[in-house]
Parts: sequence; C-alpha cells; structure tokens
Amino acid sequence: MSERRVAGVELGGTKIIAVVAEGRTILARQQWPTGDDAAAVLGLVAAWLRQKQIEQAFEALGIASFGPLCLDRKSAEYGRILATPKPGWSGADVVGTLGGGLGLPVGWDTDVAGAACAEGQWGASVDCEVHVYLTIGTGIGGGVVIGGKPLHGALHPEIGHVRVRRAVGDRFAGICPFHGDCLEGLASGPAIAARAGQPAHAVPPDDPVWGLVVNEIAELMHMLILTISPQRIVIGGGVGYGQIHLLPRIRAATAACLQSYLPDHSIADFQQLIVHPTLGHEAGVFGAIALAQSLLGEKLL
Ligand code: ADP
Ligand code: ZN
Repeated sequence: MSERRVAGVELGGTKIIAVVAEGRTILARQQWPTGDDAAAVLGLVAAWLRQKQIEQAFEALGIASFGPLCLDRKSAEYGRILATPKPGWSGADVVGTLGGGLGLPVGWDTDVAGAACAEGQWGASVDCEVHVYLTIGTGIGGGVVIGGKPLHGALHPEIGHVRVRRAVGDRFAGICPFHGDCLEGLASGPAIAARAGQPAHAVPPDDPVWGLVVNEIAELMHMLILTISPQRIVIGGGVGYGQIHLLPRIRAATAACLQSYLPDHSIADFQQLIVHPTLGHEAGVFGAIALAQSLLGEKLL
C-alpha cells in the first residue's frame, strides 16, 4: 500500500471534508458546510490546504465532487462544476481555487468515480478490470472504472438517469425534474419517500414499494452487465447500504431479469458480482485520496 502523503477533498451536497493522508491513514481532517457561497467556502478549504502543505507537505491533491463536472482538460471549463440545481455552485472553479496555489498534480473526478477507485484500491473491487460504484441515496449515480481509470468520455456516466422497464400498472410519475420516471426519479431516497408517503428509512421491508424499487434497480444491473460486463458492482448510499434486505433481492431480481442468458450467472455468481462497499461511509474521503494517489503512479487502481 502506498504511504506517500497526499491531500484529498470530498465535496458533498451538505459538507466538504478535506484530509491529509498516508495510504488510508488520515493525518489531518477538517470539515465545512457546503452552503451556497461556493467561492467563500472554497477559499476556506484552499487556505487550509496551503497551511497543511507547509506543516505536512503532501505530493498531490485529489478532489471527488458532486456533479455534473467538467473533466475535459482541453475545455476552458475544466475543473468547474457545471449547471447544477444546487444554489451558488453552478460554474464554481473548484480545481482552480483549491489546486491553483499548490503547484502539485490535482486529480478531479465525480464522488462516485472516486468511491469506485477507492473500492478498487482497497475495497470490494480489488483486482477487477471493470467495476462500478453505484450510490442510491438522495440521487442515484455511478462511477465506472476500466483498467484502473474512471470512465469519462464526453462527460462522465450519469447512470442514475437511465430509464428502466416498470411494473405493469405502476402509475407513479417519478420525481426527476428532468425525466420524471428515470431510475433516480423512481428509486432514489426522495422518490421512495414520495411513493410510500414516509421517509425511505421508515418504510418497512415488506412494503410493496421495495418490490418495485428492487425490480427497477435490477433493470439497471441488467443493462450494466450487458453493456460494460463488470466484474463487480458495488451498491452504496443511504438507501443502497441502509436497507440490508435489498441486496439479496436485487441479486435475485437481476438473475430473473437476465434469464440465464450469460454463463457464470448463477445466484452464487451474483453474490460475487453485486456487493456492498467495504469502505462504508468513508468511501467518499478515501475516493479523494485514491484520486490523488493514482497521480503518483504508486499503484494502478
Ligand atoms: P447523499 O445521497 O445525500 O450523499 P445518502 O447516501 O445518505 O446521502 O442518501 C440520503 C438518502 O437516503 C435520503 O433520501 C434518506 O432518506 C435515505 N436513507 C438514509 N438512510 C436510509 C436507510 N437506512 N434506509 C433507507 N433510506 C435511507
Ligand atoms: Zn432523471
């Protein structure tokens, strides 16, 4: 495991966490509310990083952020948050503000890509060539890692907004402001709450809404398995990780959905394929650290 010292920043919808770490050992940690004044809070984080660089010289910075993000190094928008419903954050120059004064390599990616890298480096997806980290929480999002690198392409995957087949007769309109009944509009925490009339964490396991959600998530599994052929799909997030009955049901529904089309897809195989994170709630912070470490070439993620 790498012991070179790096800094990481996890930029979340409610809080920002910055750390200095050696491997997975956190040497320093600070937290700020994300708020709606991006320039002000990023200035505070930048000042903390500059101070830590003096005290605990680190060699690279990794930033794992809520999206959507501009990851295209050739674009003038590189390092910025793109149009987001989050007030005050559209266009925020995250990489410029946090990395500008450091003179160090800066890794910049989505929170889910970071979490996928961290699971690939230390967790459930070690030794997997192609793997996915999916969060089912306030939203649904996924990071895809191929050959140690997060998949970008034109933007980055926005897996949560795919449309899936729905149960016959299910009339819930969905809550995605863009698509209505995309997967996020149907199966995110707020969508489950809207369907069930109570917060997602309070909906009992035998409520029929979970059967609908399980099948909709299995549709996404079906799509991911057939398109990118992952060796591991890690399902985290408040809903994905918080409801222990979901994972076995998602595996069974995915097997039923795929109808034995592929070899090696017994239920036992699905237990290896679709799993929970092993880094738990720290996946975001470790994601930022993993993004920084990957720049040092210590280890292919
Ligand atoms: P975020 O997506 O904002 O980063 P989380 O992954 O914790 O944060 O997701 C928050 C969402 O997950 C909320 O909609 C919340 O109601 C829901 N949630 C949190 N804990 C649970 C739980 N144990 N069971 C079901 N839903 C949960
Ligand atoms: Zn959508």
